Amino acid sequence: MPPSPRRSFTPRTWRCTLPGLANSIVKHALLWVILACMPVRSLSVPQGNRPSPPASVVDSPDVRAAVSWFSRNLSWINDQQSRLTEIPAPPFQEAQRAAAVKALLASSGLTVQLDKTGNVIGELPGANEKEIVMLAAHLDTVFPPGTDVKVRRESERMSAPGISDNGTGLAALVAIARSLHEAKITPLRTILFVADVGEEGEGNLRGMRALVDTYRSKLKAAIILDGSGTDHVTTKALASRRLEVLITGPGGHSWSDFGMPNPISALVRGAVRFINTRVPASPRTTFNLGQIDGGTSINSVPHEARLKVDIRSENEDELAKLESALRECVAAGVRDEMEAPRDRSKGKLDWRVELLGSRPGGELAADSQLLAALRAADHFVGNQSRVERSSTDANIPLAAGIEAISIGAGGTGGGAHSLQEWYEPAGREMGLKRALITLLGVSGISEDKSR
Ligand SMILES: [Zn+2]
Repeated sequence: MPPSPRRSFTPRTWRCTLPGLANSIVKHALLWVILACMPVRSLSVPQGNRPSPPASVVDSPDVRAAVSWFSRNLSWINDQQSRLTEIPAPPFQEAQRAAAVKALLASSGLTVQLDKTGNVIGELPGANEKEIVMLAAHLDTVFPPGTDVKVRRESERMSAPGISDNGTGLAALVAIARSLHEAKITPLRTILFVADVGEEGEGNLRGMRALVDTYRSKLKAAIILDGSGTDHVTTKALASRRLEVLITGPGGHSWSDFGMPNPISALVRGAVRFINTRVPASPRTTFNLGQIDGGTSINSVPHEARLKVDIRSENEDELAKLESALRECVAAGVRDEMEAPRDRSKGKLDWRVELLGSRPGGELAADSQLLAALRAADHFVGNQSRVERSSTDANIPLAAGIEAISIGAGGTGGGAHSLQEWYEPAGREMGLKRALITLLGVSGISEDKSR
């Protein structure tokens, strides 16, 4: 990862040379300078001892205009969230919702395109087009086609599957794009407003993988808007793998073919071994036997047995060890079944373990420019947030060494991934301001309005 600009400012130079530096740079990047000149060590000091917070950021009339746009348009933002949520977006079927987001971004003055993976990408060119900052929200939901996604409104509360995850993120994405357009802000670094596919279910983060592949060399930071709230910032990517065990055999009759190796018996033997695998508490490592099926009837020797296993760890090495353990246990289970004192002439078993999905791990450096920008934004809006480890779209840039965070987009939500999902917009403004100030903190602002 190339050093970010702020790393050239040590705490000492910050104290001694800020006026000279600021005079030369402030014409182009008021916000940039304020954040860049915050000493790295400020991140670890308590809230009350921080150096000047970015209150002066909003001294920029343009930033004030962008922020005030939110408060004047809250009902429009609610309406967009409701409208987008009512367009179904099951995994691998995000196209219709993508088209609606594309139109909204285009109406905010952005040049918008759909990439071949299905991501919507709206570009706000910066004064320095060689560097990119991405603001992204995923389009897809966990809900299958046919789910009733009509939004019910009862006073402030909106209820519908996907209303919060990720109706909130998508509404914030289009609101922030529009606020920058209305305030005529040109960033220093180019900003990409992205609505991406494949975050949920077995999508395996394919949208974000394609984006990082395409923009890797220019991409300096990614801010992911996922769900509601302002209470957390995900800076650590939880590595996970999803695996399917498949054991097959000839199959036969329960009475006349007794002795024939049985795929379900082999799977059970292997699964019991695997369940007894010891995993460390630290780094936290987990497994889940999530789905099991196979066989055709109670009086048939099955010809097939399947098991889906999800494994997660704070550490990639532990994850690899656990995957190896699963393979060894399945192999041993099959061997045990084949070696049982029965008639081996009645056929043999085959087995394999397939990778259904893999999310790489990674971690944002504590002294990163992006985390400093988020902390400054938190300070500005009077928010406190805790650092979290989670599995999100941010896994992909983090694993590639690109600065990335995932945050909620404000308001309150609950019942994610259930039919009872709900969202209440009270407090949404704080989430929008926090995301906007963080975004401008890493993109910088240009005084050149000629775009
Ligand atoms: Zn989500």
